[in-house]
Amino acid sequence: MKSLKENFQKTHIVIIGSGIIGKFNALELSELGFQISIIDPAKILNSSNAALGLLMGNMYQKRRGRSWDLRKQSIELWPKWLEFLQKFNNELHIAKPLIQLTTNEEKFKKLEKFITEANDINLRILEGDSIFIKNINKAFQTKKLKGIISYKDGRINAKSLLKSLDKCLKQKKINFVKEEIIKIRKSKNQWISRTRNNEEIKSDIIILCNSLKAVDLINSLSPKIKLKAVLGQAIELGINDAEVDLLSLPKQFNIDGKNIIPISKNKLIIGSTDEYSTKPKENTIEQLTNFLDKKPSWLIKGEILKKWHGIRSRPDGEPSPILKNLEDGLIICTGFYKNGILLAPACSKWVANEIKNYLS
Ligand SMILES: Cc1cc2nc3c(=O)[nH]c(=O)nc-3n(C[C@H](O)[C@H](O)[C@H](O)COP(=O)(O)OP(=O)(O)OC[C@H]3O[C@@H](n4cnc5c(N)ncnc54)[C@H](O)[C@@H]3O)c2cc1C
Repeated sequence: MKSLKENFQKTHIVIIGSGIIGKFNALELSELGFQISIIDPAKILNSSNAALGLLMGNMYQKRRGRSWDLRKQSIELWPKWLEFLQKFNNELHIAKPLIQLTTNEEKFKKLEKFITEANDINLRILEGDSIFIKNINKAFQTKKLKGIISYKDGRINAKSLLKSLDKCLKQKKINFVKEEIIKIRKSKNQWISRTRNNEEIKSDIIILCNSLKAVDLINSLSPKIKLKAVLGQAIELGINDAEVDLLSLPKQFNIDGKNIIPISKNKLIIGSTDEYSTKPKENTIEQLTNFLDKKPSWLIKGEILKKWHGIRSRPDGEPSPILKNLEDGLIICTGFYKNGILLAPACSKWVANEIKNYLS
């Protein structure tokens, strides 16, 4: 009888979609010895390239259920993958901590309750005399910001992460096919992925990691799966005010839903809006800076140096993400909405376990 490892080496897996999820699955499965092909036309920028890379896991307020389990697992897995990927980019790191702030008294009370109930040494309420709160309130010229800090959460630069994954997958000689898949079907015991150029790629297993477009490929197989497009936007803002030193602020923080990342003394990134749409409207960019009743003058006068957006896919009628075994040898791992970067390690582990069970 053949060993499992031999089985793995003979098994060809096609991954459709090469965003963070496709790439992470390729990494996890290639480490187990499978033959991998990733297929993606790579024509337009995907959601992964737009991501800010915040890893908001331990701060998640619902501390039970599948979503919490996936977050918890990812937080535990990230250090291992970071160490592995640092072989390909020694500057890749996770900047910690992560701070969540609000000007709303009611929301703050909820945060306080969450911290008390969580009873986790890595989660704290930020006291008014903490240096973080002092510096943030000073820079934003307010006294109203209050919040919590998570020492376990943080941020990884998503672009550097994707580049490191590319380098790693190239070294592992993963087959990358620059094509769009327009149809998948099963013939005897094999899966066939047909490209727009009418090429047919055979495999033993297919993993759908192609976000919104996954439903086009499985409509006839699983019509119940629905995904909605949710726009995410970000800007890089240049500040021309000698009084403000953005580097005095924490490395990353969130004020009432807006993520803020100071990247130098006079530049910061702000993201992300949340609308069910695929095209940004001009005024939504302005809304990115509207997170305080009264904006400080440096924020009003700030110059938009870059703006970008990405389309995230959110499951309609079921929680995010969609992790399912649709039929023998066909897995869907998509619909990551706001948390694809955070959840990539836990979800690729889930996929690997499904495949191991299927083959054993
Ligand atoms: C502005 C913004 C900020 C964000 N910030 C964060 C954050 O701080 N933290 C976090 O965890 N997440 C964040 N996200 C969310 C995160 O980016 C997504 O959850 C994640 O990128 C989803 O990855 P994916 O691989 O599933 O999808 P994608 O990156 O969209 O990749 C899907 C790929 O499938 C390919 N594809 C589509 N159809 C086909 C086909 N028929 N054949 C072959 N290939 C196909 C596409 O070309 C694409 O490359 C943010 C998103 C945005 C837009």
